[in-house]
Amino acid sequence: MSRQKIVAIDGPAGSGKGTVAKILSKKCNLVYIDTGAMYRAIAYLTLKNNIDITDEDKIVSLARDSKIDFIDGKTYLNGVDVSSEIRTMEVTKIVSPISSIVKLREILVDMQRKMASDKDVIMEGRDITTVVFPNATYKFYLDATLEERALRRYKENKEKGMDVSLEEIKSNIEKRDYNDTHKKVGSLTRTKDSIYIDSTNLTIDEVVEKMRKVIEEEV
Ligand code: C5P
Repeated sequence: MSRQKIVAIDGPAGSGKGTVAKILSKKCNLVYIDTGAMYRAIAYLTLKNNIDITDEDKIVSLARDSKIDFIDGKTYLNGVDVSSEIRTMEVTKIVSPISSIVKLREILVDMQRKMASDKDVIMEGRDITTVVFPNATYKFYLDATLEERALRRYKENKEKGMDVSLEEIKSNIEKRDYNDTHKKVGSLTRTKDSIYIDSTNLTIDEVVEKMRKVIEEEV
């Protein structure tokens, strides 16, 4: 058998990680794991159960009892499809502080490693190249300017019929950027051995092609 392939992608919100990872998973025959969706699923459960976001013990215990699966591009939480529920602005607002809970991160990182244990995977998030798989086969850091990232999210939301202003999205992304780069554990960092791609002026296809060449070792 050939060696297991692990493609790790980190980068800030709206840098295009999810979009390119989905396309690359099909092109390169890799299982796609969206770790942001896992933190979102726990944030959603916290809201649904009326748990205070500072009640770390309860949130950690929720996560311990949860099962998260990715099937056909959808996110399932304890067997229920929560793909749309985890993308609401309510969840987006609390996900970053919730993901700062160190014990919660330990549980989800463990799940992520198990999900990838016997497969070729493409996994994206904030700590994949640093904590989850520091020895991944290929490591990427995807970036774009704040303005461009906010605009992308704004357009995405509009397409889904979500009515959130560009200003609100920009301010949420800015707050998340700050929080995501100032965590005690699992902080978003650009490692020296990650391939850096600034996608501000690139099309999705251009980013995909750059990454595909690396993954399929054409460069
Ligand atoms: O990728 P996405 O924007 O959906 O992630 C939602 C939030 O989950 C991020 O803002 C970040 O706070 C958190 N996250 C994390 N570690 C990951 C992936 C996401 O802390 N590996």
